[in-house]
Amino acid sequence: MRDLVTSPHVAYRDGLARGVLLFQRCDACSAAVFPPRVVCPSCGGADLSTEQSAGLGEVYSTTAVAAKDGEPYAVCLIDLDEGFRMMSTVTGVAAADVEIGSRVTLVVEDGDPPRPTFVGGTGR
Ligand SMILES: [Zn+2]
Repeated sequence: MRDLVTSPHVAYRDGLARGVLLFQRCDACSAAVFPPRVVCPSCGGADLSTEQSAGLGEVYSTTAVAAKDGEPYAVCLIDLDEGFRMMSTVTGVAAADVEIGSRVTLVVEDGDPPRPTFVGGTGR
């Protein structure tokens, strides 16, 4: 049984606090696993290794969400190069200009908790 210190969520959160995005890879079937889990959703294997993402990926889908105050923001599904998908946002560009298929780079925004976001998102 895993204790709290080694729980995958704690490892993930501590990674963000250090400015890095962690994911897991199944030792049995090599599937990239995200968000953090204790069992591989592909094969049921319980041996998952923690790896650090390079933070590079591609916009899989994007939606401009109206903000109560200010400009709309982009809620996106990002396919990371390591083979997992995560929900995040692309900043630094108008939400309507984020393009599906464009390249993005991770930026961990300071905060409590720190937030994984992406920049880029236009051009291919
Ligand atoms: Zn597996």
